[in-house]
Amino acid sequence: MSSGATAGVRTYKNYVNGEWLGGSSGETFAVYDPSTEEVIAQVAAAGSADVDLAVKAARAAFDGGPWSTTSAQDRGRVLFRLAEKIRQNSAMLAEIECRNTGKPIVEAEYDIADVATCFEYSNKVLGNVNPVPANALSFTLREPVGVAGQIIPWNYPLLMAAWKLAPALAAGCTCILKPAEQTPLTVLEVANWFREVGLPPGVVNIINGLGETAGAALVAHPGVDKIAFTGSAAVGKIIVKSAADTLKRVTLELGGKSPNIFFTDADWEASIDGALFGVFINQGEVCSAGSRILVEKKIYSKFVEAMKEKAKRIKLGAPFERETKMGPLVSKEQYDRVSSYLELGKKEAKVAIGGGRPKQFAKGYYVEPTIFYDVENTARIAREEIFGPVASVIPFDGEADAIRIANDTPYGLAAAVWTRDIYKAFRVVKSLRAGIVWVNHMQPTYVEAPWGGYKQSGFGRELGPWGLEEYLETKQVFVNLDETPIGWY
Ligand code: NDP
Repeated sequence: MSSGATAGVRTYKNYVNGEWLGGSSGETFAVYDPSTEEVIAQVAAAGSADVDLAVKAARAAFDGGPWSTTSAQDRGRVLFRLAEKIRQNSAMLAEIECRNTGKPIVEAEYDIADVATCFEYSNKVLGNVNPVPANALSFTLREPVGVAGQIIPWNYPLLMAAWKLAPALAAGCTCILKPAEQTPLTVLEVANWFREVGLPPGVVNIINGLGETAGAALVAHPGVDKIAFTGSAAVGKIIVKSAADTLKRVTLELGGKSPNIFFTDADWEASIDGALFGVFINQGEVCSAGSRILVEKKIYSKFVEAMKEKAKRIKLGAPFERETKMGPLVSKEQYDRVSSYLELGKKEAKVAIGGGRPKQFAKGYYVEPTIFYDVENTARIAREEIFGPVASVIPFDGEADAIRIANDTPYGLAAAVWTRDIYKAFRVVKSLRAGIVWVNHMQPTYVEAPWGGYKQSGFGRELGPWGLEEYLETKQVFVNLDETPIGWY
């Protein structure tokens, strides 16, 4: 088992080749409850020697089979059994996720349900017959890419693990997953069931540890064929450079500064709700947060006022209280980072509401939902990803202006447009340079639909057949049907 209680603090190890192993250095790192600032777990830190062991295990499991050569149907059955275990234990997993991230329990419950759905998403590995001339047969086989290194962030810990593990395993890859150092607990709990559901040793390995050591060693390792990364653009750039040395396939899901665009004719109540939900869900720690709220000039002042009034009703609280809509940020580091942007924002724009730490909490990394308005799109708070509950409201004058401001960003992950005018809605959809565009909503995400960004929000897609595609190679097979010798001599 991964865990054991030591005076209320659980201990976790690395999961390598189907076994729980302490790190070779013997070092551990602490994991916190961000609402109480208390240590809740100690986790074995993996160094490059441990990463090497994990890669060798994944390599042997891939090269020697049988996982990669098992039928897609049989692999699917294993993933369904894993999904079933996750559903049976969803209350326990949601509780750990809630305690470790600070996200409201209701949101943690949604996340765990999505995790199970992700493993259940059917793994249809398809091939093609290619229409070549009649004297030959050409077809394509889809085969697993090989050993996948997977690095994930802390905002949706188990869900991000599922988005990566499910398609990789469905494709027949073997995996080494590195969770974020702040939030490794739920995926380690799930690893307890890997053998029971039928995942052979070495097929999934979980290594804990810091990005600069364990993560970097994984990216550089010659035994890894592909790196799938979700995290910041800054780290994404480091990963691309390091992976270039061994020409690994790389997919990146990075951050954003997503525009949420409101036209005068949009439904009023739905718009105010959508603006707040789009940026404050999960304490704003969402890669697709609608953190730039673009509002048409005719309704701008009234809109800011209405957002402010409704934002007063957002219930900040302990993550385990069911009425809580916003918990603490995940860590002291993130709290400090967001707080520094709050100070910057006060210089760059006007404050409608928020701007600091809520007074009612003696402990915990809580930040008020904050709305800055009259923000210039050139301001740093409008250009840089804050990854906290901070909205920048920006006025625009007509459709062309909205599109210009929306696209004026290095990022291109997501966007939303709110209007009742169907012509305008689709003109804007087609003009936005973003990988995900919502109309009259923001944030719904389904395992059947692709997720990923344009521009510096990364490349590659997760979820649906697109996610599976990223873990498959394409082999073209030519069969000669003409018995006549080539006659080349
Ligand atoms: P980071 O980029 O700091 O870290 C992400 C992961 O990379 C962590 O596991 C981290 O390890 C690891 N890492 C850090 N440095 C290296 C390195 N040099 N080599 C290899 N791995 C490394 O992001 P955060 O954890 O702070 O997460 C927030 C970011 O993630 C935001 O920018 C957000 O937009 C983005 N994100 C994007 C999503 C998307 O789908 N596009 C979804 C969710 C988040 P360690 O834990 O030790 O730091």
